Amino acid sequence: MSTEELLDASFKKGMKYIVSAGIDLKSNTYSLNSSKKNQMILCGMGIHPETASEKPNIQEDIDFIKENSNFIKAMSEIGLDGTKPNMNSQEKVFKEMIELALKLDVPMIIHTRKVESKVLEILEEYLKTNNLRKIILHCFSGKKALIQRAIQNKFYLSIPANLKRSEHFKMIVGMCPERQLLTETDSPFLSPIPNEPNYPWNVIETVEEIAKIKSLIVDECKNLLYLNFSRIFL
Ligand SMILES: [Zn+2]
Repeated sequence: MSTEELLDASFKKGMKYIVSAGIDLKSNTYSLNSSKKNQMILCGMGIHPETASEKPNIQEDIDFIKENSNFIKAMSEIGLDGTKPNMNSQEKVFKEMIELALKLDVPMIIHTRKVESKVLEILEEYLKTNNLRKIILHCFSGKKALIQRAIQNKFYLSIPANLKRSEHFKMIVGMCPERQLLTETDSPFLSPIPNEPNYPWNVIETVEEIAKIKSLIVDECKNLLYLNFSRIFL
């Protein structure tokens, strides 16, 4: 499906915005170009910990972000990944991206796989001297105590499209105050139907599921999540 077809279908299903979450030079270029062409797309750029861990020369990725920083609406996916090697370079890039996001005053979409507690520690260090109003922990898999810590820090928790078949994410929705919830696809991963592609409009089902857990009317829940989104991104 082309970007245009995807946007058209998303628009028809009632969606207003899509944050395109870049993770390396190639996807950051895509985010930038598609956001310039379509108002519905917000440009997310970042260096994913996997990119920081595996790509031999990431300086050009970093330079591209800095050169185009005027267009950035989110510092997307940055963080640490415990399943990948080179934790030192992951951490170095993560901190460089946090500092850039603080300077630009844009939200940060944070990846925390298998090192949730370490990522929280780093963010809490920044919290001592900065007002981190726009931290989004995406697909957070930390245990209960860590979820609690994230909530206390006023971080947002972004719930992926597989909510209805994940007890863990149901627990997060149950624990998290309404004003700290967001939705995402994590496409191409975490589709509501296993082994199927994950499309932007799958978040509609997530919103319905959140409404159920929070005992809200679906429209009320939609408005609430849109308000959260607007507070951060618009
Ligand atoms: Zn991620």
